Amino acid sequence: MSDSVQPKLIVHGGAGSSLQGKGGIDAVRQALYQIVDEVYGLLRDGKSATDAVVRGCQLLEDNPRFNAGTGSVLQSDGQIRMSASLMEGISQRFSGVINVSRVKNPIDMAKFLQGERDRTLSDMGAAELARELHLPIFDPTTDKRLKEWLQDRKDNFQRSMANVIAEDEAGRGTIGVVALDSQGRIAAGTSTGGKGFERIGRVSDSAMPAGNYANRFAGVSCTGIGEDIVDECLAARIVVRVTDGMSLQEAMVRSFEEATENQRDLGAIALDAQGNIAWGKTSEVVLAAYTDGETRGDSLEAENGTVVFVV
Ligand code: ASP
Repeated sequence: MSDSVQPKLIVHGGAGSSLQGKGGIDAVRQALYQIVDEVYGLLRDGKSATDAVVRGCQLLEDNPRFNAGTGSVLQSDGQIRMSASLMEGISQRFSGVINVSRVKNPIDMAKFLQGERDRTLSDMGAAELARELHLPIFDPTTDKRLKEWLQDRKDNFQRSMANVIAEDEAGRGTIGVVALDSQGRIAAGTSTGGKGFERIGRVSDSAMPAGNYANRFAGVSCTGIGEDIVDECLAARIVVRVTDGMSLQEAMVRSFEEATENQRDLGAIALDAQGNIAWGKTSEVVLAAYTDGETRGDSLEAENGTVVFVV
């Protein structure tokens, strides 16, 4: 570890079906770049990867366009239950909350739990923690989400997943942030409202090591159908491959080849301790944006189907 590393940052706002023709690309790009710029500023000022990831997740959770925090999708019973996790690479420590309700920023709870002996709490435990931390009661429901849910109820919940893509003024998509700070430390954070319309008690990959994982070699945050992500154990799989000596490029290509073969619908963002930045997807679209401190880039206009990109 040294203190002369050029920080790196990648964020995502979900994966899903095409943005084309929905007038969403420019608005999504602007929203993601604004967040990339603000969070990169923290890294440039010497803030830790963990602090940058938490701030990035808060900003994405607060933007109703994305399916996390405010603007989360509703489950089959019309309620919102959110999940979030944080992993610090150097300590290789995971923390998270599963199916928490009525809080503004689930990532803040994951951050608090980094320092605790019991580091991942589910619904009732998460609710108790929210009370202990005196977090104000917050209703993350937006009118747009409510209308979408009512429409889907009329259609008897035929879709396997809510629209995970941001369109117009609101849309969906789990969010994630992976950062490398000036001391060479990596952190990863992921936060979601889930797939939408799911059974009560369904557990998202976003607060599991399958969906969010980091160590001192690499960090990954995933999005897409949580069950597919869990079946591939995608985030941990990519990180372990890098740890065992594969380059980030090789680890991403291999993992996405396997995911494609298994007909998974997912996406991931990643970076490694050398400062390589990557994203990949099997879904039509993944909404990723990144910066190496010199230039910014994004995945918004990538072709349909499997793509792996490493900067
Ligand atoms: N992975 C999330 C879940 O299945 C959903 C998403 O990424 O949009 O809960």
